Amino acid sequence: TIGMVAIDSSGRMAGGTSTNGARHKIPGRVGDSPIPGSGAYVDKNVGGAAATGDGDIMMRFLPSLIAVEGMRRGLSPDDSSAEALQRIIEYYPRFSGAVIALNINGQYGAACHNLEGNVFNFTVGYQTIGAHIESVTCIEK
Ligand code: ASP
Repeated sequence: TIGMVAIDSSGRMAGGTSTNGARHKIPGRVGDSPIPGSGAYVDKNVGGAAATGDGDIMMRFLPSLIAVEGMRRGLSPDDSSAEALQRIIEYYPRFSGAVIALNINGQYGAACHNLEGNVFNFTVGYQTIGAHIESVTCIEK
């Protein structure tokens, strides 16, 4: 999955996901990516989030919505992403995936669980100064 959340200079936000389903796609499967709240979610007054991982698990927990709701309560993008994953890990301790989040102030963050190398790389792009890659270490339960 490619998941994205964007904000423009007027504070307008958008989020979305694109997935090839290489590992998970079977005929007729919808998966999490196109489901609002699961693959991605934005509230223009709070921020947005997008998720990657095993969609058949994630779509039962709406991790992008959970991350946005965390930011609404005042959590940082890092912490709200981690909280969204914790909800899943509680029930699926071996779940592999990640969440990215961006708030309306332009602060961003991410969290991951059980990924190869215990790290998640994501790209941060600015229209004016270009893009760079950042990494987060995956959380433990
Ligand atoms: N979430 C996607 C799916 O289950 C896969 C992915 O994130 O790579 O279809």
